[in-house]
Amino acid sequence: MTPSATRGTVRAVAVASVVRLRDVTKSYGAGAAKTQVLRGVSIDVEPGEFVALVGQSGSGKSTLLNIIGGLDQPDSGEVEVLGIDTLKAGDAKRAQLRNQSIGFIFQAFNLMDHLTCLGNVVIPASFAHDAKDVEARGREALRRVGLSDFAHRRPGELSGGQKQRVAIARALFGAPTLLLCDEPTGNLDSETGKGVIDFFRELNDKDRVTLVIVTHERRVSSVAKRVIAMRDGMIVETSDEELAAAHAASGGGPS
Ligand code: ADP
Ligand code: MG
Repeated sequence: MTPSATRGTVRAVAVASVVRLRDVTKSYGAGAAKTQVLRGVSIDVEPGEFVALVGQSGSGKSTLLNIIGGLDQPDSGEVEVLGIDTLKAGDAKRAQLRNQSIGFIFQAFNLMDHLTCLGNVVIPASFAHDAKDVEARGREALRRVGLSDFAHRRPGELSGGQKQRVAIARALFGAPTLLLCDEPTGNLDSETGKGVIDFFRELNDKDRVTLVIVTHERRVSSVAKRVIAMRDGMIVETSDEELAAAHAASGGGPS
């Protein structure tokens, strides 16, 4: 693969793995209250993959996603993201990785209600050193998600689907190589969710953004190119039974 860094578009990746985890463990609490959340997770995600991470509630999916994204730290194991050993890298390097190469999308949108949509989209610029063309890039990100006319509206005036599209625009603002999504359609009705999934698919197909999406929805896991199933903090075989249990855990989302 040729390394390219085209400004304004999504960067191609010149490393073997986008995500490489080895024997990752994580627990919360201590003594009798200790919960072992991850029990030795090893995963490789290659450039351009579209991975659905499924599993029952409490199986450790969000914890794993947060560790990949550098929002949380494991107790032991190896975590390499885009060729960077995130446990050995210093805070500055980790922050740079997070701000420049990784986009996050959460179920609850996590928008700032006092800011406009454009203001929300350009939040990542406030952490960057060379924040050039911020407004133009913010508008371009809003255009991509079909919200050009909403730049100066506030999140409170938007529907759930529109809010999630603003959150996606914010994630795309930094032209990420890796997009981490935690139940991105969990708060959306079926039709709106479909639009969001179609958009993810396009990002993966056309822009070669690597996607890891935690989901309960069959519709997401069926468009993903690979499904990773978790149970009790471990990766398990993606058997039909396992997938059925993972999807059933959502309370029966549309399929
Ligand atoms: P999932 O996303 O698959 O539902 P999580 O990764 O959110 O699972 O949680 C896995 C387990 O870890 C759960 O039992 C949860 O209660 C526990 N857990 C997650 N975050 C914390 C935390 N910050 N403190 C204590 N326990 C936590
Ligand atoms: Mg979760």
